[in-house]
Amino acid sequence: MAENGQAGANEQAARVELRDVYRRIEQVGLSIGNAGNISIRFGEHMLISPTGADGATIRPEDFVLTRLDGTALSPGVPSSEWAIHAAVYQAGLGGSVIHAHPDHCVALSCLRKPIPAFHYMVASFGGKEVPCAPYAVFGSAALAEGVIEALRLHNACLMANHGMVCRADSLKQALARAIKLEMLARQYCLAKQTGAVVMLDDAEMDTVLARYAEYGSGRLPSEASKPSAAAS
Ligand SMILES: [Zn+2]
Repeated sequence: MAENGQAGANEQAARVELRDVYRRIEQVGLSIGNAGNISIRFGEHMLISPTGADGATIRPEDFVLTRLDGTALSPGVPSSEWAIHAAVYQAGLGGSVIHAHPDHCVALSCLRKPIPAFHYMVASFGGKEVPCAPYAVFGSAALAEGVIEALRLHNACLMANHGMVCRADSLKQALARAIKLEMLARQYCLAKQTGAVVMLDDAEMDTVLARYAEYGSGRLPSEASKPSAAAS
């Protein structure tokens, strides 16, 4: 941890925000049984949740300042999935990462298929589907490599027989994105159980992607500063 001054104040504020979001992902059901981990890029390093932390008791000082090669620079053991977080930052793909095992994302990840264009909001993750990264054992470099390939063109992905991961510019945006992905996964599961799902076709998704581009990457039209009745 930085010793003093503005850098220290910034680090403390970041640690408090991480603690709050770590609690939040448990409260909203994204992380059950401490199966989630979160981080932000912090200068040349990252601040990442420690392995096996409980949202009810985790403290700001428990987050581990960690080099992108996994070396801890503050007390504690970084999450076993630190390599996924580090890969995102090394690739310059964002400032925050959330990985978790929410029920509906996990259920769909076991199909080892992308979440298809069943709903227009799928496009808010950067494409016409949300990809599913190949299976590799947890905590492995192979898993991080598969995930980073999936995340180059999308801001979230499923991880086969495991869970989900999303990247964003900020921790707040990553939280919103993770909640939205699990919502869509739940809705797709419901639709599949109800009947034959009619997918949006390529042309329709092109239109949605263009609409999202107008409103800013990954934002809902309803979040835009100039809401349009046609874009709800
Ligand atoms: Zn995991």
